Amino acid sequence: MFLYYNTLMKKLFIASNNPHKLEEIRDILEQNGVSIELLCPKDMGYTQEPVEDGNTFAENAYIKAKFYHDLCCLPTIADDSGICIDYFDGKPGIHSARFLPEMDYPQKCAYIVEQMKDVKDNRGAQFYDCLCFIDGQGTVRYYEGVNQGEIAYEPAGDKGFGYDPIFLIPQYNKTEAELGEEYKNEYSHRAKALKKWIIDAKESL
Ligand code: IMP
Repeated sequence: MFLYYNTLMKKLFIASNNPHKLEEIRDILEQNGVSIELLCPKDMGYTQEPVEDGNTFAENAYIKAKFYHDLCCLPTIADDSGICIDYFDGKPGIHSARFLPEMDYPQKCAYIVEQMKDVKDNRGAQFYDCLCFIDGQGTVRYYEGVNQGEIAYEPAGDKGFGYDPIFLIPQYNKTEAELGEEYKNEYSHRAKALKKWIIDAKESL
């Protein structure tokens, strides 16, 4: 299957300059037998950025994918992702990157665990990813991935990025930042969405 579409698709544009996301996407594709040239906005010298003013993950993923697809005219993947915390009524959600803008990620993580230090029964959280793919003909497709976890009592681990140090996977009693790429490339929200795209890619390219 992969042989077939690798001969058709030479380049794939990834609509992100986030080095962590790019590395994860590159690794997940490689580990699933997709070897293809990946390009990101930096590679193309693009300095303009889309305004992510959608109301849902899907809307924001589409905004990014469309913006860059119009510029590069290549098959384009954009993902919009974030952490939804039950105790915060699903926030920060689509605002995860802009949540508590004055703080860096270790501070944001520390703030969240402090807010929840006395919470016993409502520690659930989901990492959510919506991937929007626009192929060479301009056809748009969406793929979703969700990973269920809990908010840890303390940040732990130095792998991953963003909120990984406080995203606890109960079955291992470890955070994603402790489990690292071996876990994330298989089970993360992004891996789940991307693997759905890989299965579909044969038809859409
Ligand atoms: P996006 O670039 O608009 O999709 O922003 C996603 C934001 O959600 C990131 O900046 C992180 O704060 C958070 N996020 C998304 N995926 C992950 C992940 O895999 N680990 C940790 N944080 C993540």
